[in-house]
Amino acid sequence: MTFPSTPTLVSYPAGAVQAEARVLHVEPLADGRQALLLDATPFHPVDAGWPDQGPDRGYLSLTSGQDNDKDNDDGGGGRLVPVLDAVVAATDGSALHLGADIPVRKGTEGWAFVIAHVLSADADLTEGATVRVTVDQGHRRALSAGHTGCHLASLALNAAFADRWSKPTRNDALGVPDFDAAAIASSTITACGSVDVFRLNKSLRRKGFLFDGLVDELPNLGARINGILAAWVASGAAVRITCEGDALTDRRSWVCSLPEGEAAIPCGGTHVTTLAELAAVEVSFSATEDGGTTVLTMRTSAPLA
Ligand SMILES: [Zn+2]
Repeated sequence: MTFPSTPTLVSYPAGAVQAEARVLHVEPLADGRQALLLDATPFHPVDAGWPDQGPDRGYLSLTSGQDNDKDNDDGGGGRLVPVLDAVVAATDGSALHLGADIPVRKGTEGWAFVIAHVLSADADLTEGATVRVTVDQGHRRALSAGHTGCHLASLALNAAFADRWSKPTRNDALGVPDFDAAAIASSTITACGSVDVFRLNKSLRRKGFLFDGLVDELPNLGARINGILAAWVASGAAVRITCEGDALTDRRSWVCSLPEGEAAIPCGGTHVTTLAELAAVEVSFSATEDGGTTVLTMRTSAPLA
């Protein structure tokens, strides 16, 4: 069995939840499960490099290449194979490395970045088979709402902190000092929501961010940000994903036509197509101490309309 030498083609940025694909490789994993590589997929994978949006859920169904005697069935081959996980993986042609075990950066010469669909040990799919790939649409929509809400919340947070900078710093997509980029420690997209954790450390202070009174201000801060977010949601702004290509490793951006201007943020995730799909976007804050560093947690809820 050979490994693919080109990246998996992806259709989730365009919103696809179904596709036909060819099995390029099946790899037994150490835990007894199998990793299946397809030429193309609508499955959004988790990327260990920045694991903000988790994997899609769904299943594969056999359409040809195996069970050829079972024609005239329901078109899905009658056998559904659940996808247990979908993970960014990479191969140099000699082995397949999944997730955090990938030893090289994206773009390294001689390496193909692919999506590993993790299947159970008894999945019984072989190289060359054609499968229909089906993504759980409800789960995808909830993650898309959460991810768009997360980007909006980060822009609104930057706006609310805009006067807390004593030195010039990098600006965000709306030309406001980018607190999010300067302080983010982790971002987790949930169903119709997100959790962003910011570390208010010495390095952030050296960059010129002013901490004074911040923790006491948190209740008011939430209300200010929710006001900005309510206006954005009410605008029903269009959201789109721009792509430099169809491959997993091609650059993509989230673009939203907000009243303040068009905001573009590099992003590999999935999103709603308009803010009218969201009932609201609201944030709340909590602060904790971790070894002398204040850790600010922003919880965003972005329920579907
Ligand atoms: Zn994103």
